[in-house]
Amino acid sequence: MTSLTGKVAIVTGASSGIGRAAAILFARQGAKVVIAARRQAELEVLVSEIASTSGEAVAVAGDVRDESHASQLVATAVDRFGGLDIAFNNAGSTGEMAPVAELSAAGWRDTIETNLTGAFLGARHQMPAMVRRGGGSIIFTSSFVGHTAGMPGMAAYAAAKAGLIGLTQALAVEGGANGVRVNAILPGGVDTPASITNAPDAGPEVKAFVENLHALKRMARPDEIARTVLHLASDASSFITGAAILVDGGLSISRT
Ligand code: NAP
Repeated sequence: MTSLTGKVAIVTGASSGIGRAAAILFARQGAKVVIAARRQAELEVLVSEIASTSGEAVAVAGDVRDESHASQLVATAVDRFGGLDIAFNNAGSTGEMAPVAELSAAGWRDTIETNLTGAFLGARHQMPAMVRRGGGSIIFTSSFVGHTAGMPGMAAYAAAKAGLIGLTQALAVEGGANGVRVNAILPGGVDTPASITNAPDAGPEVKAFVENLHALKRMARPDEIARTVLHLASDASSFITGAAILVDGGLSISRT
């Protein structure tokens, strides 16, 4: 049910973390994958890694804040692989972190641009290509931050990630009649370079604190998040659309 044979996918934020793990899993399940991020060298390494396991991927370096990058990703999927079935709009970053009174307007705008507007620009170009194909699956990476938890210093990130849930719902009703499903995943703490637990000044106490927030008392590996993305990308989730799906190890319900 989770086979992606014959499918074509775009994965943004594929140079690292969750996006990288999803691109590898998609390719392993038979999809041809257009992988994107700003760092070309990291993408080329991933193209080779996927090719070494008989998969097929093409790298397109660019910035999700740039609309021409969004159109280039879809054009690459169509020109190289014949169409577009799946888009995992995952690129994001926490951006400037500060209490609201100290957060710069430029920092606010940049975080919204990267995490929310970038996803909108992607979907704006992906949706028509999927409608032409007779259906598809769009997935956004939101977060528990801004949905089930308020975190100090993360107002712009929270607003952007909560905004993705609204975008998911609107797009799901717009795309439903044409067979395009649209969902958001809400990871908990994931062990990636973006995590605060991997910040240069983070000691073991930070990791212990974050782990303890989860009912499972640990953080996720990127491949654990990727498996839920695969479910949403594949026909196994054929009746799921407009959903915001927590993949958070029980962080949102844990009070211990
Ligand atoms: P990561 O390893 O730092 O990956 C982030 C990815 O986004 C990188 O591939 C990065 O590539 C790309 N990216 C960032 N800004 C970009 C831009 N302006 N244009 C194009 N690509 C950009 O972090 P991750 O944890 O896997 O994050 C993936 C997603 O999960 C993000 O949306 C993040 O907010 C979300 N998330 C993470 C956690 C967590 O605990 N780690 C929890 C909840 C949600 P380049 O630097 O090469 O451009």
